[in-house]
Amino acid sequence: MRAEILSVGTELLLGDILNTNAQYISRELANLGINVYYQTVVGDNPERLKNAYNFALSRADIVITTGGLGPTKDDLTKEIAAEYFNKKLILDNKSLEEILTFFKKINREVSENNRKQAYFPEGCIILKNNNGTAPGCIIEENNKIAILLPGPPKEMVPMLNEGVIPYLKKFQDGTLISKVLRITGIGESSVDNLIGYIIDRQTNPTVAPYAKDNEVTLRLTAKANSEEDAYKLIVPVEKEIRDKLGDINVYGVENESVEEIVAKLLIENKLTIATAESCTGGLLAGKLINYPGVSSVFLEGVVTYSNIAKINRLKVKEDTLNKFGAVSSECAAEMAEGIAKAASTNIGVSTTGIAGPGGGTDEKPVGLVYAGIYINGVVKTKQLNLVGNRQKIRDRAVASTLDWLRRELIAYLNKDSN
Ligand code: AMP
Ligand code: MG
Repeated sequence: MRAEILSVGTELLLGDILNTNAQYISRELANLGINVYYQTVVGDNPERLKNAYNFALSRADIVITTGGLGPTKDDLTKEIAAEYFNKKLILDNKSLEEILTFFKKINREVSENNRKQAYFPEGCIILKNNNGTAPGCIIEENNKIAILLPGPPKEMVPMLNEGVIPYLKKFQDGTLISKVLRITGIGESSVDNLIGYIIDRQTNPTVAPYAKDNEVTLRLTAKANSEEDAYKLIVPVEKEIRDKLGDINVYGVENESVEEIVAKLLIENKLTIATAESCTGGLLAGKLINYPGVSSVFLEGVVTYSNIAKINRLKVKEDTLNKFGAVSSECAAEMAEGIAKAASTNIGVSTTGIAGPGGGTDEKPVGLVYAGIYINGVVKTKQLNLVGNRQKIRDRAVASTLDWLRRELIAYLNKDSN
């Protein structure tokens, strides 16, 4: 089945808001194995909306619109859909009741306009809106399916999940299962070099790569008669990918983040941690604290930005700063050890670098960052050469340091268990 998403709203064309609805719906349809061939945006203009609607339904089997279901005069989607399918708009008493109840709940007067939201093209399936006033609907006619959803994402998303996806699943032959593998430490082109032949060869599961900042993801999607059979198709391909890329580089699956993996390792192994940051200014601590439950192991994070702070708080030697400078592997090592000692933790992590835009030299250019990791008596440092603006350099420093910490933790724990 071919689908098209038609996003309705002048605010989208003016650039006032981002079309997050189209992204969300596309992703969900991809998960169902439904091909989205076009995403279209049109303003709240009757003529152009009508044209866009006709055009979408001429080339797609399913057209999903968002927006234009509101109570005001410029909300036209339902009227135009009814006209397209030659249907009358008729009052749905149940929807009217729900709209009245909703207004009572939020303690507001119901206007005549809001009653308009209870009218639907004759014979359609009505989609209840638990988070707002505008119900959606599905029209099935002449092998075409038109799905009308409200614009506000907090109304659209639950309606899609609760009403539309279960409906569309009926048209699926077989079950589609996806698994996402998350990769750090290898760039997109290296991933392609290593497993390009798998990506090209595979049809079930398909393997789709996607590169983001600091990581590459692979989505493996299998189709079979049951979920269990679909998973069985994924297992050997996943193993082959892990073997080729190196298991350590596949840091997680699905929605896992590196900081989540690190936090779990720390909690499971009762290893306490503290951070001392210079150029990343607390971003590293912030990432770790994203993970709920980390409080049992994350004891302290400090931002020691000046030399004097590094000396006073972390016992970095003045001599070290004079000889090597604050942006040096020596300083990173003393910072990591210093914070672990000061906070009495098993682990200390540090960052010190030049985030720019100014302050770089030939010897120490913008983007040069040193990270330090101290684990129970052993300290290591790593030099990072990063590119980007100030924010990007700081984000990338944090991502690299966290991933390096993950690798060091795994190595430390493996050594421990041997
Ligand atoms: P509407 O249902 O057309 O009255 O839309 C109401 C509100 O939903 C808009 O003002 C936007 O804030 C939001 N909205 C509409 N369309 C989208 C979209 N495609 N993506 C994200 N938000 C949207
Ligand atoms: Mg609108």
